[in-house]
Amino acid sequence: MYDSVIFDHDGVLTTLVDLSPLRDATWDAFAELGVSDPDPSHVEQVVIHVSPEDVRAAADPYDLDPETLFRVRDERQSAAQRRAIADGQKVPYDDFDALRRIDAPMGIVSSNQQATIDFVVDHLDATDLFGTAYGREPSMTSLHRKKPEPYYLERAMADLGVESPLFVGDSDSDIAAAEAAGVDSAFIRRGHRADHTPTPDPTHEIAGLDDLLELDGVPVDGGADAPGPAVDGGREGRGQTR
Ligand SMILES: [Mg+2]
Repeated sequence: MYDSVIFDHDGVLTTLVDLSPLRDATWDAFAELGVSDPDPSHVEQVVIHVSPEDVRAAADPYDLDPETLFRVRDERQSAAQRRAIADGQKVPYDDFDALRRIDAPMGIVSSNQQATIDFVVDHLDATDLFGTAYGREPSMTSLHRKKPEPYYLERAMADLGVESPLFVGDSDSDIAAAEAAGVDSAFIRRGHRADHTPTPDPTHEIAGLDDLLELDGVPVDGGADAPGPAVDGGREGRGQTR
């Protein structure tokens, strides 16, 4: 039996945003730091899938401090995503409420910014669901810690006091982080992953969050009358979750 279920966020719990708001936010970060006309290739280098070397290569030509560029980039990108969530452009998948039937501690481990993850959990009124929720801190250190490194996954396991979670993700880095932490994984084949062959091999493959409820080893509530996860009572919006 799994003693918990931990989720990646983007492309698993909520839909993806397109790249353009993230790209615009990155241009804004250069502008905020006084670089009004950066080379587009330098901007592109720090839009997504960023390494510390990318940040230094984008900062050096303008004598920017890489750490500052990365922090401002993260702040701008997180603000853009929080707007997308508030505006309903980035939404939970239709099967999100399947989580409410899982009878085990749950957490989130995302490579998105911590500020983004905190906003989503609050916006979805889901603080009762997740015992812990990690994003990255807005510093270059986090680039050495993000998945496929198991760093945040292991921290989430420690927070929840669990040893054998199932980790659910839509990217190779999710499956690799689970493997590095020595735990099972489930690759969720959403529409944007229709043709993807996950590497390394996940333990399970599912089409959506509903499938988790059928998966061997995932603890599920007995039925509609069974008590749900502990709630603090009277949270606004809880009645709309079905
Ligand atoms: Mg993802």
